Amino acid sequence: MKNVKLARKNGHERTIIKVGDIEIGKGFVVIAGPCSVENEEQTIITAQKVKEAGAHLLRGGAFKPRTSPYSFQGLGLEGLKILEKAKKATGLPVVTEVIDPRDVTWVCEFADVLQIGTRNMQNFALLKEVGKVNKPVLLKRGMYSSLAEWLNSIEYILNEGNSNVILCERGIRTFETYTRNTLDLSAVPAMKELSHLPIIVDPSHGTGRSSLIEPMSLAAVAAGADGLMVEVHYKPEEALSDKDQTLNPEQFSNLMRKIRKVVQIFHKLESSE
Ligand code: PEP
Ligand code: MN
Repeated sequence: MKNVKLARKNGHERTIIKVGDIEIGKGFVVIAGPCSVENEEQTIITAQKVKEAGAHLLRGGAFKPRTSPYSFQGLGLEGLKILEKAKKATGLPVVTEVIDPRDVTWVCEFADVLQIGTRNMQNFALLKEVGKVNKPVLLKRGMYSSLAEWLNSIEYILNEGNSNVILCERGIRTFETYTRNTLDLSAVPAMKELSHLPIIVDPSHGTGRSSLIEPMSLAAVAAGADGLMVEVHYKPEEALSDKDQTLNPEQFSNLMRKIRKVVQIFHKLESSE
C-alpha cells in the first residue's frame, strides 16, 4: 500500500462529508430507499415512508448494473427526474448510482451523492471521472476486492481532486451460498485504522435476505460504522429488483427504532430534523 498516499490515515483527522445539513462521519447516518426507481408512485411513497421513519438520505438506482442484459436496467433520465420529485416531496438528499463515465457530469445535476457500485470499483475511467466533480462519492467495495485494492480505488478519486469519498462495505463473495454475499464487518474497524474516510454498511446486498438485515445492521453500529444503506420498497413483493433483501416500511421503521437504541450506546445519531 506504499502508493496509497491520500486515502491513508497517516495522522490525518477523520474526514466529515457534508451533504446539505447532514454530516457523514460525525453522526450516524441512514440511507434508505428502493433498489431501483420503478415509477413515481413507488419512489415517492417509499421516500415518504423512509423519511417518516427517520432516514437521512434517499437511495434509488436509475442505472442498474444487472448480471443479465435482459433484467430491468433502470429508467435512466426518467428515473433521475422521479428522484428529483421525491427529493422535493421529502427534502431527502439523493444517492444514486452512475455506471458510465460519459454520464457523470449530467447525473450530478440530479444526485447529491454519486454511488459507484461493487462491479465498478475498479472501473478506473469512472473513478477518475467522479474524481473531477464536486459531489461526494459513495464507493462500494468490490465483491472480490481486498482492502488494499479498495484503498487504491479510493486513491484514484482523491488524486483527481475530489476529497469527499464515503466507503461502503456491501459484502464479498465467499464459498457460502445461504447468504448472497458474506458481509465483512471486520472491514469497518480495519478501514477506520487504515483510512480517514467515513465508512457505512449495506446489509441488504451484504446478506441478500431481509430477515438478516436487522441483526447485521445492529452489529454494524457496534463495529463502528458511520451509517447504513438499506433497501426499502413500499411493496417489496412487487419490487423489480432485489425483492428478497428489501424491507417494507413497517420493518424499516422497527429497524430504525432499534438502531436508535444501539446508536445511543455506541454513537451519536445525525439529526434528521
Ligand atoms: C445498489 O446498491 O443498488 C447495488 C447495485 O449494489 P452493489 O453495487 O453493492 O451490488
Ligand atoms: Mn439492489
